[in-house]
Amino acid sequence: MNNLLENILSKIKENDNFVITTHVNPDGDAIGSELALARLISSFGKNVKIINHSQTPDYLLFMLNSDSEVLQFSEEIHTNFINQAKIIFVVDLNHLNRTQSLENYIRKSNAEIICIDHHEFPENYANINLIDISSSSTGELIYRLLKHSKIEMNYSFAMPLYVAIMTDTGSFKYERTTSEIHRIVAELLDAGVIPKVIHQNIYDQGSANRIQLLGRAFNSLVVSISGQLAYMKITNSDLKETNSSEEDVEGFVNYTLSIKGVEVGIFFFELETGFKMSFRSATKVPVNKLAAEFNGGGHFFASGARVENKKMEETIPQVIDFALNYLQKYFN
Ligand code: 5GP
Ligand code: MN
Repeated sequence: MNNLLENILSKIKENDNFVITTHVNPDGDAIGSELALARLISSFGKNVKIINHSQTPDYLLFMLNSDSEVLQFSEEIHTNFINQAKIIFVVDLNHLNRTQSLENYIRKSNAEIICIDHHEFPENYANINLIDISSSSTGELIYRLLKHSKIEMNYSFAMPLYVAIMTDTGSFKYERTTSEIHRIVAELLDAGVIPKVIHQNIYDQGSANRIQLLGRAFNSLVVSISGQLAYMKITNSDLKETNSSEEDVEGFVNYTLSIKGVEVGIFFFELETGFKMSFRSATKVPVNKLAAEFNGGGHFFASGARVENKKMEETIPQVIDFALNYLQKYFN
């Protein structure tokens, strides 16, 4: 790990123009990691732009120093900068198709690609891979890069790193929440992070519409006869009728696992074309493998997939069949 960190730091020192990007629908780990990394690169006096396919969701905007700190990709505006970049950092994803509109630019680019991530089963697209699946979050890896650089921790790094680690550990409860993570977080608090304030920003600024939407998801709940599989869904019309947006469904899937006995939870979310699925596992079923059946991926306990050109309603029974088979195979 130290050699890799050293190598990445020398790339930062030796080059001038950097692009950082992350996955569609960025979460706290994605934006937090990008910000901390960009601020690290800037502190070496280098040019860096964060350019993402998606807009930054509203609930994460409080982290930005300015509107332009995270840009939404525009072919007209950003192609030149991307072509000039010597290094492109791709963080918190390991299948390049998750960068959506940026995918082809990255594949065609002459820049060196550095992937920093913590997911299993990576696609081999990068020149340098800092991938550690035992890491709680990509933010934890950026923290290690920062420490290795000997640049002093301060609030501008600590706050996004805290967001990254907090959101990806489910507020410090998932399996990769170690004593080491708590020691890292202690250092972030020493640098001025106030957990209550961050928590309120992330979790307590939602709209009433979002709660209406959550109500619709609850109404759609189905639990299998065995009690081991639960799923919920949101249709396009649910979204329109409650005046909600895609980012509002963040976290809905987790409610499926709050039911006693449920081992696998699925959340279906209809998009303009196709749909998205989120999978969660309580103990034994590797839902990243289940997601891979539909060209998705992720972690053992949390995964997802996007399906284009298929109708959600028609595909749900097929997904449920797969999930029940996985339960047979891994749980019973
Ligand atoms: P969520 O259900 O919260 O959207 O995603 C959970 C995890 O599943 C993410 O951290 C990510 O690792 C993975 N994931 C979600 N959607 C996709 C997808 O479309 N493709 C891949 N490869 N992984 C995904
Ligand atoms: Mn992550």
